[in-house]
Amino acid sequence: MTPFAYHLAQDVPSAVALARQPRTVRFLGGGTNLVDLMRETIEQPEVLVDVTGLSTDITATSDGGVRIGAAAKNSAVAADRHIRERFPMLALALLSGASGQIRNMATVGGNILQRTRCGYFYDRAARCNKRQPGAGCDAIDGLNRNHAVLGASPACVATHPSDMCVALAALDAIVHVQGPEAARTVALADLHRLPGERPDIEHVLGPDELIVAVEIPGLPFAAASTYRKVRDRSSYAFALVSVAAALDIEDGLVRDVRLALGGVAHKPWRAWKAEALLRGAPATQANFQAAAGAELADAIGLRDNGFKIELARRTIAAVLANLANQTGARA
Ligand SMILES: Cc1cc2nc3c(=O)[nH]c(=O)nc-3n(C[C@H](O)[C@H](O)[C@H](O)COP(=O)(O)OP(=O)(O)OC[C@H]3O[C@@H](n4cnc5c(N)ncnc54)[C@H](O)[C@@H]3O)c2cc1C
Repeated sequence: MTPFAYHLAQDVPSAVALARQPRTVRFLGGGTNLVDLMRETIEQPEVLVDVTGLSTDITATSDGGVRIGAAAKNSAVAADRHIRERFPMLALALLSGASGQIRNMATVGGNILQRTRCGYFYDRAARCNKRQPGAGCDAIDGLNRNHAVLGASPACVATHPSDMCVALAALDAIVHVQGPEAARTVALADLHRLPGERPDIEHVLGPDELIVAVEIPGLPFAAASTYRKVRDRSSYAFALVSVAAALDIEDGLVRDVRLALGGVAHKPWRAWKAEALLRGAPATQANFQAAAGAELADAIGLRDNGFKIELARRTIAAVLANLANQTGARA
């Protein structure tokens, strides 16, 4: 590991001020991803600004939503009663990720900005455009079973690994950010980038912009939402495909829907096409399958990961059918 300076931030202004210097600075959350990357010398910050002392508050908002401090631990968010009752898809997504020990360390801010788990990114002997722009990508013709089928590019086929972010994308979460000059908000669904020609640029935040909080607006029908993660092992494995969904049905018609996918793209994938097809349509299995098919219509499989396309289609349709049955049972 390369030597680095360490600062414990006392508040948001001092964290942002500490990040504003000519040296390479990284904010430090639980360190469950960043410290691994530093050990492998893939990340080599000269300065770490520890932000775990900042807000961990989880506060209900007046519209029935919730605001979560960026230093809140993943385990605390998953256990929060308001979140479990109002936004079960978020609690389920968090509980499906990593292990209890890691969730006790990992923060919301760090979870959002965790890096891909593509094996070639972690292997310094491999070519990786994300690690070294212009180097090439060994995943494209390599072992790519876990890689992206939507929104990938000839430069990068890595996926974003977060479960939490898939739920946040579906729930229209807003990320509150503090920069050196001003505060701003970014929709979670717009925060991460598709790879294009610059997969090394993974999100729209500057290096000195601090995630301060995440806010989820009130969404009454999210109280019956869910998250399904399909993976190789039943725990401690990243998603092959995951689906976060909430469905509002009235008189047999889909009044509203929220749908996002994980494990399939360089960012949490909000299923805008499927949502648009479903709104106002009869809540039938045929329509759920058609919407899933439309969302995956542009998917492209590589040598090993073509199965994800069918897996995603089936998982979307099955999750929506389950939610529809539950909604019918409650009516
Ligand atoms: C073995 C293992 C299995 C895992 N399995 C899963 C899984 O199944 N699903 C899943 O979703 N995740 C999984 N993870 C990943 C885990 O969720 C992340 O490592 C964790 O969420 C990162 O949070 P952290 O606070 O430790 O971030 P850190 O490692 O501290 O930081 C990660 C990044 O975020 C930046 N950062 C941190 N806080 C802020 C902030 N407030 N503002 C701006 N930037 C910030 C850091 O600079 C760094 O770039 C796994 C991890 C491991 C090690």
